[in-house]
Amino acid sequence: MIDALYQSDSYLRTADLPLVGMHDDGVLVKRSVFYPQGGGQPGDQGKLELASGDMLPVHTTRYGPDRDSVLLVLRKGDDPLPEALKEVSVGDTMTGHIDWAQRYSFMRVHTALHLLSVVLPYPVTGGQIGDGEGRLDFDIADGPLDKTALTEQLQALVEGDHPVDQDWITDAELDAQPDLVKTMSVKPPRGAGKVRLVRIGDVDLQPCGGTHVQSTAEIGAVEVRKIENKGKQNRRVRIRLSSEDAV
Ligand SMILES: [Zn+2]
Repeated sequence: MIDALYQSDSYLRTADLPLVGMHDDGVLVKRSVFYPQGGGQPGDQGKLELASGDMLPVHTTRYGPDRDSVLLVLRKGDDPLPEALKEVSVGDTMTGHIDWAQRYSFMRVHTALHLLSVVLPYPVTGGQIGDGEGRLDFDIADGPLDKTALTEQLQALVEGDHPVDQDWITDAELDAQPDLVKTMSVKPPRGAGKVRLVRIGDVDLQPCGGTHVQSTAEIGAVEVRKIENKGKQNRRVRIRLSSEDAV
């Protein structure tokens, strides 16, 4: 099991991380403050502080082999791993520092995309989160979409200052609460044991493993920037944060 600090406290920027394995691209940890790429959200960047005081850049974060660990990627492409790693062995504890400005931007965009799926209650076929911007693809058959109207609806949800909470639920608990499934915008996967549900006030509830802000107000000004047709029934809706302050 991964101790996903990025899920239990998405505002945590620094943590001690025991090394559980070496990898061709970096090091493996079970306890991680770095979010591993997944669900359309990029892996975190940052720095890894060794006991020697050396600071190694973490270029990105992915799941390790078998997804039971987190891989902190410490080299770019085919570059060699940093020399300082030679003094490190499994069992050592290092201190991880995430690139908070970038992560916080991802958290704001990610939460805004949940709200976009409220404004556009259609099946989501894809999505991507970037720094200060993101997109969702929707299965929508009919009619043009109005950018200005969508922006206004999205901004109203942001300004509603809705709290964002998480909850873990088992298949059995899910079965015992059929009303929960009815209110959910995305159906949780079955058979995985436990599912993490992310609730935004009384406006959205869906299974999600990503990182979110604590209140929608933290998203700040947001706009629907572009709506593209990607195939007959596929609309790609791009949003952008208009303010990059509040870090
Ligand atoms: Zn999410």
